[in-house]
Amino acid sequence: MPATPAPSAPFVPGPGESVVVFLEHSEHDAGPAGPAAGAGSGVGSGVGSGLRLRVTDPRLPALLVTDQGATRGDGVFETMTAVATAGPTDATGHRVRKEDSHLERLASSAGALQIPIPPAETWRRAAAAGLQAFAQGSPGADAVVKLVATRGPEGAPGGGHYVRDAAGVGPLPGTYWVLVSPVSEGMAGARERGLKVLLLDRGFDSGIAERAPWLLMGTKSLSYAVNMAALRHAASQGADDVIFTSSDGKVLEGPTSTVLLARRIPQPDGTERVELITPLRSSGILPGTSQGTIFAAAAQSGWALGYGPLEPADLFDADAVWLVSSVRMVAPVTHLDGEELPQDAGLTEQLNAFLAEDLAPGDHGPNGAAAAPLD
Ligand code: PLP
Repeated sequence: MPATPAPSAPFVPGPGESVVVFLEHSEHDAGPAGPAAGAGSGVGSGVGSGLRLRVTDPRLPALLVTDQGATRGDGVFETMTAVATAGPTDATGHRVRKEDSHLERLASSAGALQIPIPPAETWRRAAAAGLQAFAQGSPGADAVVKLVATRGPEGAPGGGHYVRDAAGVGPLPGTYWVLVSPVSEGMAGARERGLKVLLLDRGFDSGIAERAPWLLMGTKSLSYAVNMAALRHAASQGADDVIFTSSDGKVLEGPTSTVLLARRIPQPDGTERVELITPLRSSGILPGTSQGTIFAAAAQSGWALGYGPLEPADLFDADAVWLVSSVRMVAPVTHLDGEELPQDAGLTEQLNAFLAEDLAPGDHGPNGAAAAPLD
C-alpha cells in the first residue's frame, strides 16, 4: 500500500503579504495533488457543503487556464474591509465590516449569473481562516478581504480549481476563493485629498436594467474591464475618478463606488435638516453596502433620505458630494468636470462616523425595500 502523504505545513505569510483561502472539494486533502499543493500550502478543516478550506500563498499558480472567471469574466466578487480589533503585538482578531450585507449581495450577484456558490457560513469561515493567517504576518493590521466565485473551467462538468478532479464536485462546480491583503496606502490619501471627478456617459438609458436583465447591470460580476477603462480615461484627463451618467441624463454611480450628495435645509425653527440622497437603484446601479449602512445610521440621526432620481445639475447644486465604497470609505468630490464643488468637512466626518457604526442596513440593504425618492 502506498504511504499516506504527510499533510503540508500551514502557509504563514510574511509582513505585508497576502494570503488566499480556496474553498475546494475535499479529495485534495489527501496530500500534494498538484503544483499548488506541497510547499507553502496548508490544508484546512471541513466546513460543510462538501468543501474544505486550503490556506495558501497567492503567488502560487492556482487556476486552470480555461477557468471562465479568467477567460470570460464569468464570475462574481465582493470586496470587504476587516478592522483589526487587537494591537500590533498581541492577538490576531479582526471584525469584518458589513459582512452580512456583502454575503447577501454576493448571493444575489451569483443568483443573477446562475452560478452556484457555497453557503454564507462557509465564506465566513474562509474569511476568518484567511484573516487568522494574515495576522500572523501583519499583526494588528487592517485588511482587504476579497471573495471570488467563478463558473469554473470551460467544458468541464465540475471543477474549477486546477488541482481538483472533475469527479464528485456535486452541486458546486465553480471556483471559489478568499484573498486577504493589506490595505493600500493610496486609499487614505484619496480620502484626505478628495477627488477630481469626470462625468462619463455609460451609454445605456436608466431603464435598461429592467428591460435587459441579461446585461447584468447592478451586479458585482468580474467583468469590470469597462469600469477600469473609465478610470484610465479619467486619469488621462488629470482626474481621479468617474461618475457615470445614463444616456437619458441621470446620475448613476462610480466605477467602484456609490454617489451620495447632501443638502442642508434650514428649518422654520432656525435649525437645519440634512438631506442625504443617492441615485435611483432601479437605474441599473450596484446597491452599495456602504450607502446602506450610512443610510441606516443617518435615519437614526433624523436625516432625510432619498433615492434619486438625480441629474448632474443636482450634483453641482449640492452642499457636498461624495463617492463611497467599502475600502476607500467616504471620499469627498472636490471637482466635477473641472468645476470646484463646495466641501463640508463636518458632514464628511459625520458620514465616516456613520459608516464606522456598522449598523445593519435594514431596508437600505442590498435587497432592501427602501428605494423611495425624497418628496
Ligand atoms: N458601485 C460599484 C460599481 C462598485 O464596484 C462598488 C464597490 O466596489 C460600489 C458601488 C460600492 O459598494 P460598497 O459600498 O458595497 O463597497
